[in-house]
Amino acid sequence: MGANEANGRIAPLEMAPEEFRSLGHRLVDQIALFLADLQKRPVTPGETPAQVRAVLGNDPLPERGTAPETVLEEAWRLLVDHSLFNGHPRFAGYVTSSAAPSGALAELLAAAVNPNCGAWTLSPMASEMEAQAVRWIAEFIGYPARCGGLLVSGGNMANFVGFLAARRAKAPWDIRSEGAGAGSGKRLLAYASKETHTWIQKAADLFGLGTNAIRWISAGSDCRVDSSELRARIEADQADGGQPFLVVGSAGTVSTGAVDPLPELAELAREYGLWFHVDGAYGAPAAALPDAGDDLKGLVEADSIALDPHKWLYAPLEAGCTLVRDPQHLLDAFDYSPVYYRFDADAEERPINFYEYGPQNSRGFRALKVWAGLRVAGREGLCRMIADDIYLAKSLYQEVQAHAELEALSQGLSITTFRYVPADLDRHDPAAAAYLNQLNEELVHRIQKSGEAFLSNAVVQGKFALRLCIVNFRTTQSDIRALPEIVIRLGRETDAELR
Ligand SMILES: *Cc1c(COP(=O)(O)O)cnc(C)c1O
Repeated sequence: MGANEANGRIAPLEMAPEEFRSLGHRLVDQIALFLADLQKRPVTPGETPAQVRAVLGNDPLPERGTAPETVLEEAWRLLVDHSLFNGHPRFAGYVTSSAAPSGALAELLAAAVNPNCGAWTLSPMASEMEAQAVRWIAEFIGYPARCGGLLVSGGNMANFVGFLAARRAKAPWDIRSEGAGAGSGKRLLAYASKETHTWIQKAADLFGLGTNAIRWISAGSDCRVDSSELRARIEADQADGGQPFLVVGSAGTVSTGAVDPLPELAELAREYGLWFHVDGAYGAPAAALPDAGDDLKGLVEADSIALDPHKWLYAPLEAGCTLVRDPQHLLDAFDYSPVYYRFDADAEERPINFYEYGPQNSRGFRALKVWAGLRVAGREGLCRMIADDIYLAKSLYQEVQAHAELEALSQGLSITTFRYVPADLDRHDPAAAAYLNQLNEELVHRIQKSGEAFLSNAVVQGKFALRLCIVNFRTTQSDIRALPEIVIRLGRETDAELR
């Protein structure tokens, strides 16, 4: 610090309150207009990476600063003209939701207060609000509210936390000190259906078990795990000197929204003394619906659940959540309590230090947008949005069946898969199978680039499918009714070029 500044430091990143007020008001006005007109924009400009990079430019790190007004204005233009909008009513691609506008405001507030939600002392109210949000999420889906839990960045991380809790709880040796390979030849084994999301490969790899520690169990034509194969596999591995420790069930698979028979898996895991983890990153919130099926409601029996507030609770990215039936299992898996973190030395009651419950140390206040969204919608409002999403996906399934050039393939939760079949081709003809896959693969790219609507893809019983997934409170019946025409028009166009 120069001597001249010693008594009146002017930091380049400080901002006078009047400037903050006027820049903030302007930005909020721009965002309000953007949200009002969102449906008039294309879902995506469909640009190539080279086009996007050319717009951004290739300047080196600037030596000198730029006025925040200019920086924000530029960021605004770059983003509104060159983004894909998952909050657009016709975005129905991946499991990425429209974001509650209240969440955007909550993020601003969270960043302004900037509590460090690693330690209670550094974030007294924020930590309590996170604990409350976690409790509300548990109550929402029917999980015991005395459970432990915390927010993480997303579904992958939320599943990792469950995986690590399971590993610590079920390895018969001290895995945290000795490592995953210390079982004197006994290999830790995890069981999951072939429809399980790729987080499980990352977990097995990252945490030292290796992906061969995953026992892939077949899924039936309904994409649900085959529980008799699961039982047989566990028994064979136990007889063979393996160390089964984890059964994973999906509450809504990422491809088709299939729900595994969770009560049956819970029973099986209990019988063999294994941890039962439910990946509910997508579908767990649907367990709150009054008409949820017993298979889905069975997630309450899990030892741990991963779910994603940034999916079906409509929080802006990022927010994942892990719930663990017994909070002690998180402490067992993550706590070290070193002397330099004696935050609670003279506390009467042990406060919640989230760094002891998960992998992160410093933690942001991602809980605020989640907490706010849960309050703004309430249980009733959340259920209504989720039920509407499911209703719309089902109504597309019905629409599709009415069109000779479309073939409905699957329907689960708010995911519908289908494909385009040219009028002169027989969908059952084996000779046409490869071409139909190629055609629909090209078609999904074309739909995505068109900006008219955004679908993704899945493979359903060997068929390349278009996949609609609605976790979007802006999608309406008229958006759904518009889809068959778009798909058929672009499908005919693609077919004419490919054949
Ligand atoms: C999205 C998803 C994940 C991964 O969650 P992220 O938030 O993308 O990390 C895991 N499992 C399922 C079933 C999902 O739908």
